[in-house]
Amino acid sequence: MPEQAFDKYAILKNYFGFTEFRQGQEELINALLEQRDVLAVMPTGAGKSLCYQTPALLLEGLTVVISPLISLMKDQVSGLSSAGIPAAYLNSSLAPDEYYETIANLRNGMYKILYIAPERLKRDDAHLLGGSLGISLVVVDEAHCISQWGHDFRPSYLLINEFIKRLNTRPTIAAFTATATDKVKNDILAILNLDNPLSLTTGFNRENLYFEVQKPKDKFYALIDYLRAHTDKSGIVYCATRKTVDELHTALSVKGLAVTRYHAGLEDIERRENQDDFIYDRKPLMIATNAFGMGIDKSNVSFVIHYNMPKNIESYYQEAGRAGRDGSPADCILFYSPRDIRINEFLINKSQGDEFPKDEALIAHNLSLLKAMTFYATTDECLRSRLLAYFGEQAPSYCGNCSNCNTLFESIDITLPAQKIISCVYRIEQRGRRFGKLMLIDILRGSKSQKLLRDHLDTLSTYGIMADTSAHRIRTIVDHLVNEGYLTFSGDEYPVLSLSPRSGEIIFEKKSLSMMLPKEVEPPRFVVTQQIENLQGFEQGQMDEALFAKLRALRSHLAKQAHVPSYIIFSDASLREMSRKKPRTLDQFQGITGVGLVKMGKYGETFTKLIREHDKPES
Ligand code: ADP
Ligand code: MG
Repeated sequence: MPEQAFDKYAILKNYFGFTEFRQGQEELINALLEQRDVLAVMPTGAGKSLCYQTPALLLEGLTVVISPLISLMKDQVSGLSSAGIPAAYLNSSLAPDEYYETIANLRNGMYKILYIAPERLKRDDAHLLGGSLGISLVVVDEAHCISQWGHDFRPSYLLINEFIKRLNTRPTIAAFTATATDKVKNDILAILNLDNPLSLTTGFNRENLYFEVQKPKDKFYALIDYLRAHTDKSGIVYCATRKTVDELHTALSVKGLAVTRYHAGLEDIERRENQDDFIYDRKPLMIATNAFGMGIDKSNVSFVIHYNMPKNIESYYQEAGRAGRDGSPADCILFYSPRDIRINEFLINKSQGDEFPKDEALIAHNLSLLKAMTFYATTDECLRSRLLAYFGEQAPSYCGNCSNCNTLFESIDITLPAQKIISCVYRIEQRGRRFGKLMLIDILRGSKSQKLLRDHLDTLSTYGIMADTSAHRIRTIVDHLVNEGYLTFSGDEYPVLSLSPRSGEIIFEKKSLSMMLPKEVEPPRFVVTQQIENLQGFEQGQMDEALFAKLRALRSHLAKQAHVPSYIIFSDASLREMSRKKPRTLDQFQGITGVGLVKMGKYGETFTKLIREHDKPES
């Protein structure tokens, strides 16, 4: 075979410096080279850019990439330029002279790839349509933004279709996104009018990510603990509101951490600076709202902490997925408190603004997504399997790399239950019958259901032999037996269980089996050892009445000074807790109920000083 000077493998190696395509990349590139539309759903960090950048170099004419990420276009374009790929961008950040220079170059055919913000399509399309540019490929990045069922709807994305219609010849259209439910996928297909697209969804699993849910009494305390143990790492802390971002940012800066922040309330210039500080590791810790991060290609983010629960799993997985892009182990930690549910309900209702009538269907939909998110935050099951199941992927019930698997699961001998289950399937088959999982479980648990009794299934010798095991647990074991090939589960309309060639190993050869299962008795969850260490010297004892009196006096003094009622400073409950726990350091002070970040900053010093002095031995 003659060696081609310029093929996709040469581009991969020469321009990008990689030796192998990742999962899905080559298929997508091939489709685009054959000028077939594509819809690709690949998780964050999977390498979507390369899927269109490679064909862009091989196809005639220009590839237009529509992306909502103005702040990142510059980085992307300089990245491409430094790799020798002629690229440019059009967005509102260009100065007039830069803008005209770009247009002139564009008309001269100097670029292969042009990034453009969707809201610019109307304004700039004269330049794009005029002349003989020859746009062969239009890429819609972050394509979920086109759907209002997605988590990041952007009305400007609806301009894309008009733009494409105005082109002389219809280009190939490629839609890329990291998260798409069926509703969103259908919207993308319909609104962009994709023509017989190659629709490709690569697996959602990211093996290197560790998932954890914490339910800290005091989130700030828990955050500090984590950060102390990970000082040399870069990470993102997501908060629900701008206010929390600002407060955390202040509180952490005060502690001397190299931290920056990002939210939509900041001036453009500060946002850009802060993003750069983070990306260039000048400030490796980013505190942000969900406005930050789409398309951020920082490979060494080693943790993503959600200080508040996001409003749906799509957002969560996309944001958490910004950790560990380079494939090294990384942590995705969610701080959950029931209050987060109420904040999100409020935000969901508010998102409709003053619109009237409210779109009740959309609100209901978003509330149901919130429910799934809450389920994730509170489940005892394997966290990874919950996430993957949400995206429609079957996953083992135990991953071994999440906080639930690590603390709530143990290896359990299932030899006996496996024998009972498989014998039951065997007995059923002897009667010439086959059933699905529900009926099998009913028989094993000795259910008295009509259908079961009518068919005399209560006369099976295996009827009721697992009456003391929960249906959920039997199901988990059945699934495991199917996964391991000891049972078959198949059928067209109603899948049924049947014996497999390996069933005999269990019922005749009495092979012993074990699997990871949730512990029957729940251990205390999420013990943060660091936190316990910090608590040393932080007494839990009796209330010190004398101290309580002093604290009240201090409080009333401060209240007078500030012309506010005393309870505005601290409640009695807080003062009582202080006189019991006697926080001597700011850290310990943050552990007191009612001490928020602002109060910590305002009063922490004064109160802890009083407490330290109160306990000084008299001399
Ligand atoms: P996303 O799917 O989130 O848009 P990117 O396109 O930003 O992901 O790619 C994520 C990272 O993976 C980038 O650093 C990119 O250079 C790298 N990458 C992409 N394809 C490959 C490959 N075939 N081999 C090695 N690294 C790759
Ligand atoms: Mg991307």
